[in-house]
Amino acid sequence: MENSLTEDTRIAIKRIFNSQKNNQLSIKLAPVNDRKKKLKKLKTAIKARENEIFEALRKDLRKPVFESAVFEVLFIYAEIDFAIKNLSPWTSQQTVSSNLLNLMTKCCISYEPKGVCLIIAPWNYPFQLLMSPLVSAIAAGNCCILKPSELAPATSTVLTKLIQEIFKEDEIALVEGDACVSTELLSLPFNHIFFTGSTHVGKIVMEAASKHLSSVTLELGGKSPAIIDEDVDLKKAADKITWGTFANAGQTCIAPDYVFVHEDQQEKFIDLMKANIEKKYFNKEQLNKEDYGKIISGNHFKRLKNLFDDALAKGAKVRIGGTFEESDKTVYPTVLTNVPPDSLIMQEEVFGPVLPVVTYKNISEVINYVNANNKPLALYIFSNSNKNVESILKQTSSGGACINDVMIHISNPHLSFGGINTSGMGGSHGFHGFKAFSHERSVMYQSKFIDISKIIYPPYNGKGLILKLLRKLM
Ligand code: NAD
Repeated sequence: MENSLTEDTRIAIKRIFNSQKNNQLSIKLAPVNDRKKKLKKLKTAIKARENEIFEALRKDLRKPVFESAVFEVLFIYAEIDFAIKNLSPWTSQQTVSSNLLNLMTKCCISYEPKGVCLIIAPWNYPFQLLMSPLVSAIAAGNCCILKPSELAPATSTVLTKLIQEIFKEDEIALVEGDACVSTELLSLPFNHIFFTGSTHVGKIVMEAASKHLSSVTLELGGKSPAIIDEDVDLKKAADKITWGTFANAGQTCIAPDYVFVHEDQQEKFIDLMKANIEKKYFNKEQLNKEDYGKIISGNHFKRLKNLFDDALAKGAKVRIGGTFEESDKTVYPTVLTNVPPDSLIMQEEVFGPVLPVVTYKNISEVINYVNANNKPLALYIFSNSNKNVESILKQTSSGGACINDVMIHISNPHLSFGGINTSGMGGSHGFHGFKAFSHERSVMYQSKFIDISKIIYPPYNGKGLILKLLRKLM
């Protein structure tokens, strides 16, 4: 694993990029069936290395095998199968209708590969978040350089082996390394950059992309609220919020970041959360670390402790958990109340297993709060009232939303997954991912027999009648 950019890596990056540029046309011209074969090959190779992947994820994040299987690997099989099944319709030319000025023409839209693409991934789902855009990039017929996160080194090593064994570097290559390697990659004129990571680095990526006007998909972070309406089954809401907040030790981009609950229901909600946490993560009062992840790094552990300490110093109360074990980077499932809005934990994305619970008297306070802050990646509403759900949805904005559940909306490849403004731009998964790596090329074929567009050519003298007619029809 490189820790900074060496001369060898710099040379390798140039070599790979140039070889992909030279190879891109042949990849583009290859039959669509070749893309399906590559996706099948990828799935077979992942299957053969499943245990290695699980072990690596355990090493990097103490990820339970069940979570690795469902969120990291099976998720990718589903993406691959969906792409293979739909690739023929996605890649076929779509004919659109004509209007008066282009009557008798044939108008089509084709999805063409963008060319040579860059995919940069974070560490929290280090396998899935590199592989999912790769599936879309292959489906769309691109060459691609992948840069996994340096903070998940064991997974990065398995990913390197996997990619090297099935692809030639002039088509798909992986370059390991940290921000310096990313910076070197970002200096190149990629046709598309697909970045998943923090909002802060997203801005750096977009700035670098602007030098070459490379298009970007930015899958970023933010604070995703869960709003609990008064008339709801609190037990169900607590069950789902517990799962969403503490899976992967809270290190999930769409984890509920904080919860709004009616002031009369806070105590009942806390009791239900406590019972749920005990049932899911404790065994005879001992935290069951087998089923509970660790914090990725010492720096992130310190960052979380700092958010926690700052909240407490400003008046927050620890209602559940609050134990930080530095030796194995474990933060116990933690729930806070009385968290002031100016505390860091209410200003920054938590990205860990510490959940602030905020009370409201009237739902309009919740809407005002959400709208006064950056647009979240996800918004969760627990309510039995369709009217209330629609009213909250209408008055707020977020990347995606999920009603009476959390996070599970990511599992449907028919739904576009992505953020808005600070939580990201562009969509991924299924057709939306394929589209991100494709250029929507419009082509008009003029009629060889009747060319009606000539009616608007000069000289204009004597064309008053034509203008009158056009005004009537357009
Ligand atoms: P990060 O932005 O620190 O790093 C992401 C990637 O960018 C890594 O590969 C890293 O090496 C690289 N990088 C870091 N600094 C860089 C720089 N200065 N220039 C260029 N590249 C640089 O993010 P992270 O800590 O790995 O991941 C956590 C963040 O990612 C959270 O904010 C989370 O919400 C977000 N995230 C978003 C999604 C999504 O789908 N929207 C999914 C997972 C994580």
